[in-house]
Amino acid sequence: SAMLELSDVEVRYGRLVALRGLSLEVHKGEVVCLIGPNGAGKSTAMAAIAGGVPRVAGSIRLNGQELPARKPEQIARLGLSLVPEGRHVFGTLTVEENLRVGGFLRGNARESAAALERVAGYFPRLKERWTSPAGRLSGGEQQMLSIGRALMTNPRLVMVDEPSLGLAPLIVDAVYEILLELREREGLTLLINEQSSHRILRFADRIYVIRNGTIQLHGTAEALRDGE
Ligand code: ADP
Ligand code: ADP
Repeated sequence: SAMLELSDVEVRYGRLVALRGLSLEVHKGEVVCLIGPNGAGKSTAMAAIAGGVPRVAGSIRLNGQELPARKPEQIARLGLSLVPEGRHVFGTLTVEENLRVGGFLRGNARESAAALERVAGYFPRLKERWTSPAGRLSGGEQQMLSIGRALMTNPRLVMVDEPSLGLAPLIVDAVYEILLELREREGLTLLINEQSSHRILRFADRIYVIRNGTIQLHGTAEALRDGE
């Protein structure tokens, strides 16, 4: 059965219907990509899962349990973490401080220290910039920091909103290599939003194509690659 299951989810912003009956599944250990143009509803889907926007219909289940609507802290404690679009690092805080902010939900100092060491191990580039203000990092480094920050709570499912945005192709590959390494070594499950399938078909197990708030097409990356 699915780790994450959305069934007929509807979200509105006032009169605008951002998600109209969105359904999708993510299985444990999978890398699933949600692909669609700007405005399709990708960020809203992640916000709905993470408890950031109210839904007017549908269900969202994590390991068979209905997720509470609009309870982001509670949902984070269930092992779900979101890497927002646009990185949103704290520019005046150092790399280490940014990571510590991510561990805030854990509360426990000894656990945070262990998480910090574990997360830093995946990002050698960040270790070199440990005491630099995050605002001085390159876009790729900021993306890695934003991912690292989301890992501080030791999540099982990580949602990454448009990690490629504004990054050079080689840097995008480096970011995806780290995401795949995390899947291998931590057994992480990944849901990733992207606008284009161009580089993603190589990395994803399954793809959902979203448009106007609903899924238009889905399949294995292999099948979609062959259909191109
Ligand atoms: P995306 O690239 O995922 O579509 P946007 O750049 O559209 O993200 O949105 C950035 C922020 O602005 C988000 O917090 C989103 O919820 C908000 N936003 C997007 N569109 C609107 C809108 N039409 N009215 C108000 N807020 C919006
Ligand atoms: P995507 O992530 O695929 O770019 P979004 O989920 O950001 O799409 O947006 C879906 C639709 O909802 C768009 O029409 C966008 O303008 C609108 N929208 C997003 N956030 C808000 C918001 N906070 N208030 C009003 N409209 C929004």
